[in-house]
Amino acid sequence: MGSTRKRGDARQADKLRQMPGNACRFFRAGRCLYEERLNPGYNGSWRCVVVRSWEREYDEFVQRAEAFGLEDDAAGSIWERRFAEMMRAGVACDRFERGGEYELLACVHLMGDLCLCALPPCDGVCGRFQPRGRRMKN
Ligand code: SF4
Repeated sequence: MGSTRKRGDARQADKLRQMPGNACRFFRAGRCLYEERLNPGYNGSWRCVVVRSWEREYDEFVQRAEAFGLEDDAAGSIWERRFAEMMRAGVACDRFERGGEYELLACVHLMGDLCLCALPPCDGVCGRFQPRGRRMKN
């Protein structure tokens, strides 16, 4: 019993000693970008669901426009109207929070086309730590 408690206390102390990862080049808002930087775009589940749905809509639209033989100008103006409708319909995401730097989708969690909520959390400085401002080492 005593030794189990000691081990538990030691683990707790290790956790307490772990430095926060915010000085690491992969750290963003409590999340870790290491895997994404290693294989950009490989994990589709880290991408924003709203951006993905816009891309899907656009791809389907392009296919239909080609099937109907639409000229580029006509297709472009139809897509503009369609996109404006989609924007008016609002953001279909439970995690959406207004803010951030992007004009089309002003969400505080959006970074490029990634959703910071979907990325793995950073639990503190680990073996992958790399200081900011240096080239990435693999
Ligand atoms: S929370 Fe924001 S960035 Fe994340 S999926 Fe929703 S809209 Fe996209």
